[in-house]
Amino acid sequence: MNCFGFIFAIANLSKLKIKIVMAIIITDECINCGACEPECPNTAIYEGADDWRYNDGTSLDGNVVLPNGKNVDAAEAQEPISDEIYYIVPDKCTECQGFHEEPQCAAVCPVDCCVPDEDVVETEEELLGKQRFMHPED
Ligand code: SF4
Ligand code: SF4
Repeated sequence: MNCFGFIFAIANLSKLKIKIVMAIIITDECINCGACEPECPNTAIYEGADDWRYNDGTSLDGNVVLPNGKNVDAAEAQEPISDEIYYIVPDKCTECQGFHEEPQCAAVCPVDCCVPDEDVVETEEELLGKQRFMHPED
């Protein structure tokens, strides 16, 4: 989606009073301090070059169909999204919805490089749905 399309979509959703939120992304200004990783309630943050899994820090088990329709093996090691800096898995980030009032990674990052990802726009409802899906017992 280009910039105008993005703004248009946000404006339309605002008219419908749907709260728009986005997953968080770590920019290349990351200094690899590691402060954000233990703060994530969804274990969505990984050190650069580390594999990640859907079942790390969640209740997901075996083959699961994600809320976005993707079919995955929760225990299967997934390729790192970055080899150089800490990264966030968009499928696991809920912008801390259901756990905290604000994104905890952004709150602790000393260089403010945890920012909304304009390529991963979701409604508050969708993010809460992801949170409940990953942590049905909470
Ligand atoms: S916003 Fe919250 S859920 Fe998303 S990566 Fe940061 S700490 Fe994790
Ligand atoms: S807190 Fe910020 S600088 Fe430190 S690892 Fe996380 S994203 Fe990088």
